[in-house]
Amino acid sequence: MQKYKGHLFVISGPSGVGKGTLREKLFQYIPDLYYSVSVTTRKPRKNEEEGKDYFFVDEDKFKKYIKEDKFAEWALVHGDYKGTLLTTINQNLKQGKDLVLEIDVQGAIQLKNKFPEGIFIFIAPPSWEKLEDRLRGRKTEGEDDLKKRLKNAHYELKQIKYYDYLIINNHFEKALEELRAIIISERCRIKEQLPNVSL
Ligand code: 5GP
Repeated sequence: MQKYKGHLFVISGPSGVGKGTLREKLFQYIPDLYYSVSVTTRKPRKNEEEGKDYFFVDEDKFKKYIKEDKFAEWALVHGDYKGTLLTTINQNLKQGKDLVLEIDVQGAIQLKNKFPEGIFIFIAPPSWEKLEDRLRGRKTEGEDDLKKRLKNAHYELKQIKYYDYLIINNHFEKALEELRAIIISERCRIKEQLPNVSL
């Protein structure tokens, strides 16, 4: 039986839209998914762990990685560098693992060119008011950073056209159900299952 390559699921959406919570719950329902840990120059928040949430590096190291072509994609997101290592993608997909990336739209567009077979999912807020409420409610950003994130959200929402799927996170359970449905449907595609079926 031939083992087929893993799927590349790319999730984007404005800061505060609930991507992280959705992704965490998704992993509880579908355990054989792998999270792509990004490299960042952002300082760790309380409770964030090296190698689990991010690989935290300084700007010199990040720029060295750029020069050495180590990134599949990278971008300056809300003032911090963030990027996905090529090795993270290649190693997982080659082993047939389904990899989930939670990255911004600039990075997703770069990946769309390199990995057109990827599945691109955009999570949108039901309204600007709800997005602002959620960002304020999580209390992880100061006022300046919060304004920067809201401004970026306008640009990000304009990039929906590059994505394959859109989920509006109005009701958490419904949004989670839609995300699960996308993952399961993509896994059920005929062309991907044929190598596993002996007729
Ligand atoms: P936070 O600073 O809240 O952890 O993440 C802010 C944003 O950075 C998230 O919306 C996420 O999409 C984006 N991000 C995280 N990792 C990467 C990455 O490796 N590449 C890109 N382009 N964006 C990332």
